[in-house]
Formats: sequence, structure tokens, C-alpha cells
Amino acid sequence: MAEGKIIKALSGFYYVLSDGVITQCRGRGVFRKNKVTPLVGDYVEFQADNETEGYILKVFERKNELVRPPIANVDQAILVFSAREPDFSTTLLDRFLVLVESKDIDPLICITKMDLLQKDEIKEIEGYAEHYRSFGYEVVVTSSKTEQGIEELSPYMRDKTSVFAGQSGVGKSTLLNVIKPELDLKTAMISSHLGRGKHTTRHVELIHIGDGLVADTPGFSSLEFTDIEVEDLPQYFPEMVEASEQCKFRGCLHINEPKCAVKNAVDTGDIPSYRYDHYLTFHQEIKDRKPRY
Ligand code: GDP
Ligand code: ZN
Repeated sequence: MAEGKIIKALSGFYYVLSDGVITQCRGRGVFRKNKVTPLVGDYVEFQADNETEGYILKVFERKNELVRPPIANVDQAILVFSAREPDFSTTLLDRFLVLVESKDIDPLICITKMDLLQKDEIKEIEGYAEHYRSFGYEVVVTSSKTEQGIEELSPYMRDKTSVFAGQSGVGKSTLLNVIKPELDLKTAMISSHLGRGKHTTRHVELIHIGDGLVADTPGFSSLEFTDIEVEDLPQYFPEMVEASEQCKFRGCLHINEPKCAVKNAVDTGDIPSYRYDHYLTFHQEIKDRKPRY
């Protein structure tokens, strides 16, 4: 018996990576019993019949699970945002950050297309990068054209399962191709944009990049806060968590409560007002959410 990770699923076969070797496995009746469908990213126990074939005995408990694309045990989301074309958006970035953190996935912010900026614009974007670093996030500033920051990215992928996420056109596939030119990921990433239809089966595969595994299809195609409660929202804003230790009320949601240290920090400029504004917007959006049942 051996343990490994599913890196690809196709036509009823699961491709399990273990110690650098890939074994083509089938699932056995065990899944019917516990109603688990193996997913790409799953850690499994398997029995090899011979050097290349075997069958899966057990799927280990998942740390998390994405629906679109279907992938389990994601460690890191590389949030790709272009400085221009499309313009950098803190609203969209904050939305991604909340979603990613709510799934217990580490975010890495990657700003691309820096080569498109004028000097004063570079300052503005670097300013945002500094803000986010001060909240506790990792930020890498890059250009796939000049290869600025590209070398910095690889160490972040080591020993992790990562997904790229971000709007269409921000430069995700270009970035991957610069990191690993022998791959032609253009098609994979493009087909994911087209495959929005309800009945399209999304194929996702984990590929080796910089000593880690990366999904060949971008993650987080749905950006709705369906699984997040208002009470949990503040914890996804790290700079608010820090300030909230001084709030008068425990469980303060930083909306109308008196002696709220978060609102105070926004007034003094210690927390940028755009972050608080996004917090309020998301809070309202979750409150207005229709009950699911
Ligand atoms: P994706 O949809 O996120 O995968 O984006 P693509 O990788 O397809 O890139 C969208 C467009 O942006 C393409 O025309 C790329 O050539 C261009 N692009 C990507 N990265 C850069 C960059 O760093 N600098 C410049 N100037 N253009 C870029
Ligand atoms: Zn408060």
C-alpha cells in the first residue's frame, strides 16, 4: 500500500503521484460506501497492481474543496491582478482575499503588467503593494514582458498545491508560460473561460512548476459569498482583527457599535478607508443574501 496525490482524473481513471511516480488507478467499491468521489488534489491510499496501474483504497479527509474547477486540498491561491489593462482594482482584490481566506487557502498577491505604467503610476501601484504587505499579505510585483519579479515567484510554489485566480485578461497564462516556457498553457486557460456553460465538464490537472503543483485551470470562477456569515467576515480583514482587540464589545462587527477601535483606526487613517468601505459592502451583501433553503 502507498500514499499519493491525485493530479489528474480522466475517463474513470485517477492518476496518482507518489514519490515522483504516476500510477493510473481505478476507484473501488469503497467509494460507493462512503459516497466520496475522488477529486484532483486528493491525498489517497492506493494499492499498485504493477508498475503503472493500481486502485484507490481510501481518500483522506480534505482541508478544502473548490467547486469550479473541482479540486481539493488547495494550499495557495495566486491572485493575479494587472496594474493596467484591466486596471488594478482593490474592490475585486478584497473580494478574492475574503473568499480565499474563508477556504483556509493562503493568498499570494501577484501584480502583473508593470511594464505598462508611467513613473507616477508605478508609485501608485507600489503604494497599494505596501498597504497590502502591511496588512500581512505577500505581494509580488511583476511583468511577464520584462520578467520583473518572475524569479521571486517560484519559491512561493515550492511543496504547495497552488491555483491561479483573477479576471480574464490579467495575464495568468502569460505568466505561467514565462515561469515554465516548455508548457503551452494558453489553451488550458482559454478553454476555462469558454467553459462557463452549466453542462460543460471542467477538466483540471495539476502540473509541476517550481517544485510545486499548480492547477492548469484558474480557480474561483464564482465570486459570491455563499458560505460566509457576517460574524466571520471581520476575521478575513487581518488589519481589522488587530485593531478589534481594542473594541469595547467582544464580537464587535464594526458597524454601529460605540467605542469601536476599527472605526477609530479608519478615522485616523491607520486602516485605509477603501478597505473599510469594502468591508461594509461585503457585510451588506451577506446580510441581503437570500436564505438558501
Ligand atoms: P489571462 O486571461 O489572465 O490568462 O491573460 P493572458 O495571459 O491571456 O494575457 C492577456 C493579454 O495581456 C495578452 O495579450 C498578453 O500578451 C498581455 N500580457 C500579459 N502579461 C503581460 C505583461 O506583463 N505585460 C504586458 N505589456 N502585456 C501582458
Ligand atoms: Zn469594532
